Amino acid sequence: MSDLHDLYQQLILDHNHHPRNRRELPDADKKAEGFNPLCGDRVTIFLKLKDNVVTEAAFEGKGCAISTASASLLTESIKGKTLEEAKQLFRKFHQMITGEVKESSDGPGLGKLEVFSNVCHYPARVKCASLAWHTLNSAIDQQSDGVISTE
Ligand code: ZN
Repeated sequence: MSDLHDLYQQLILDHNHHPRNRRELPDADKKAEGFNPLCGDRVTIFLKLKDNVVTEAAFEGKGCAISTASASLLTESIKGKTLEEAKQLFRKFHQMITGEVKESSDGPGLGKLEVFSNVCHYPARVKCASLAWHTLNSAIDQQSDGVISTE
């Protein structure tokens, strides 16, 4: 179990030091900005779409290791998914990190994203891990042009 824990830590550190898809998409179809005042994390999510499918996902921002790794893994996870699938992933991820889903034998089925499953034990970190996902959700819905906040 501790080996698995180390592996999870390593994946988070790797994505923090070498974030995937960290760039601006100037011609993004959808875009939203998020802010977590509790920790000072900021993230902007960019999506390019074709026929309702995410063809490119990228992010920009500055924040702690958890928020950066989460945004990086998010962009990897939603590429090739429909917007509805991306929203489902957001719901599952959110349930996992808030501890709403009790671990079942087959797990939440989130693949690499399960590196964040321990975050539910650290309430302050839940907002760091979920910031990019809330921002994604807001980008998909385009609820507002302003900055969304975890508070
Ligand atoms: Zn943070």
